[in-house]
Amino acid sequence: MARASFQIGATTVAPGSRATIDLQLTQQYTHNPVNLPVHVVHGRQAGPVLFVSAAIHGDEINGVEIIRRLLALQVLKRLRGTLIGIPVVNVFGFLNHSRYLPDRRDLNRSFPGSERGSLTARLAHLFLNEIVRKCSHGVDLHTAAGHRENLPQVRADLGDAETRELAAAFGAPIVINASTRDGSLREAASALGVRTLIYEGGEALRFDEHAIRGGVHGIVTLMRRLGMLHDKSSHPPVAAPVLAINTSWVRAGASGIHSTALALGERVAKDTQLGVIAGPFGENPTPVLATAAGIVIGRNKLPLVNEGDALFHIAEFDSTQHAQQRVEAYQDAIASLEEFERDIRR
Ligand SMILES: [Zn+2]
Repeated sequence: MARASFQIGATTVAPGSRATIDLQLTQQYTHNPVNLPVHVVHGRQAGPVLFVSAAIHGDEINGVEIIRRLLALQVLKRLRGTLIGIPVVNVFGFLNHSRYLPDRRDLNRSFPGSERGSLTARLAHLFLNEIVRKCSHGVDLHTAAGHRENLPQVRADLGDAETRELAAAFGAPIVINASTRDGSLREAASALGVRTLIYEGGEALRFDEHAIRGGVHGIVTLMRRLGMLHDKSSHPPVAAPVLAINTSWVRAGASGIHSTALALGERVAKDTQLGVIAGPFGENPTPVLATAAGIVIGRNKLPLVNEGDALFHIAEFDSTQHAQQRVEAYQDAIASLEEFERDIRR
């Protein structure tokens, strides 16, 4: 039996074809319409329906580039199932280089939204009902929030066995068990039975080549695992990710100017000095000490800090040494572009 067409908005996408659709969202006060741009690749053969979304926080733009590269892959010609790419979900924030919408709400705290609620609630409602509801799986792409950067990491509900397998299939070096936040897309999607992973890497308003390559590679290996792309047994197996058993932030013990030479992915022991906070003349130096042993998976890049500000995000593991080896192997693989790209073209 031939596969049914995919319906979205007023558009019908036939099996074996692809289309860009502008879902009508609202009108600006300039008179111009505001649309939610969506690209659908509807495979000839049946299979999972996967959405990949980015810029739910409008200033987190790495995912926009991840989706652009993903949709350009030739292997999609042989796609089983359906891939829906939504590179810019928060179109308002993206235009304004802002995390939020013009009503100053956070879209990722506004799901499931409502048809008659705030502007943000309406966008959440449209996205959930027109896209997520039609999917079996999802990947939501983020970066760290303003002035912070993250090591590539997957966050998912690891209490669910299938989600745990998918999180491992993504191949990011570090996987964090994260309970869903109230109002998040991931919470609303899982309430609909749509298993959703979060991939975070890099920083707001910048492209991070490492995080972008890791994201494209992760989605491709996930699609292979789901049977959406051919799994060529010749490609090297993706190394198992290491599961963080706990994560915590090291906070500033004093206000001042923070100096540090510590990079993402570095291994630290408890009470290692990570940096120093001092006044502009170097007065009253206060060391910043690691509160746990682990790997630095996030850090604040703004040196101007107030007491209590979060400075370093440390993930703890059963074996920190194993985690460090895994992170280093991943960083080397991503750095050798040729090998990495060849792998995802197969
Ligand atoms: Zn985000």
